[in-house]
Amino acid sequence: MAISLFPQSHGLVVNASGTECSAAISSSTIIQYFRYASSISYINISMVKKGLRLKAEDIVLLILPLALLLLFLIRPKAPDTEKHPDLPETERRGPEITLTVYNPGKSLITEEKLEDYLVGVVAAEMPPSFELEALKAQAVAARTYALGRVEGYYGSTESHFGADICTDPGHCQAWISRERFLEVYGSEEDWDKIEQAVEETRNVVVTYGGILINPLYHSNSGGITEDAQEVWAISESVPYLQSVTGPDESSYPDYEKIQLYSWDEIVKKVKTRYPQAKFPEKVDMAIEAYTVSGRVDTIRIGSVSIPGTEFRELFGLRSTNISLNFPSPESVEITTIGYGHGVGMSQCGADALAREGYSYEDILKHYYLGVEVEEIMQ
Ligand SMILES: [Zn+2]
Repeated sequence: MAISLFPQSHGLVVNASGTECSAAISSSTIIQYFRYASSISYINISMVKKGLRLKAEDIVLLILPLALLLLFLIRPKAPDTEKHPDLPETERRGPEITLTVYNPGKSLITEEKLEDYLVGVVAAEMPPSFELEALKAQAVAARTYALGRVEGYYGSTESHFGADICTDPGHCQAWISRERFLEVYGSEEDWDKIEQAVEETRNVVVTYGGILINPLYHSNSGGITEDAQEVWAISESVPYLQSVTGPDESSYPDYEKIQLYSWDEIVKKVKTRYPQAKFPEKVDMAIEAYTVSGRVDTIRIGSVSIPGTEFRELFGLRSTNISLNFPSPESVEITTIGYGHGVGMSQCGADALAREGYSYEDILKHYYLGVEVEEIMQ
């Protein structure tokens, strides 16, 4: 994801015990109804005893409608999973959240059920071979992001033509249809596993201070994530997006890449941005400063110093965790460790942690500092 803005407003209200809270309100309402109804029946019976002196069967006839009324009043409005296992599953769960999704590839906006949409996101964002708990962490991050988009948290949606979210991974988050997934990426079993990850985290999101977080994630951190402030021009530190060390991610295919460039190629590319810069005949470049996580902060090429993030973009590198080697005076070998901006949750790291026995909540709390993993209160 490429997200530059962070939550500015309070929107969706979430509560760690959302479901319990709803249930408590319902019970209390029922109790009030019950007391009110009992007092009515008591008054009526008193009146009968004192004034009318009716027979027992008449009293029964009077009480019976009241009892029926009571039954009607104490019937719970909202379906409840535990108390009503005989209800169809969809009714037990409560109302579905829907959102509008813009698919730029098809120039199409469709209305989707949130949980169905999320299966396509997880399928596109993480390999199905990853551990179930890692897939669940991805599902929660994707749900948090989708709802944050619905709430208007993450900047402009002008390119969405009025839709809540789009399927462009460069703008929002990737998405793939079931048909396409089965054609290219995986089996029915794989799809079922992803559905399970979404279903088992239904309505769960990540919050900080009661607000949905911006759940940035990336492919491979190289073993340590980056502080968001090192990557984007953000005026204030984001407390939950700090640099954290994680498990070894070197066994994943995205871990390391070595690219060889000629000095001429490097000069030509840098000149496109800095036409005034001076470059000698032979290789003349060096890393000048590192960020807190050991990634490149600034790098000097000839007479110009540029940010590591810009250097990464200019050369299409996997990350800013860069080291340089010079096999000859005319060539440069660039080695990158990890894949992505390095901020927030590492997907490979999530899988590695899951293999160590971490739950999806543990994984999310490892990568997003000081957060709560909780259910949305609908
Ligand atoms: Zn978008």
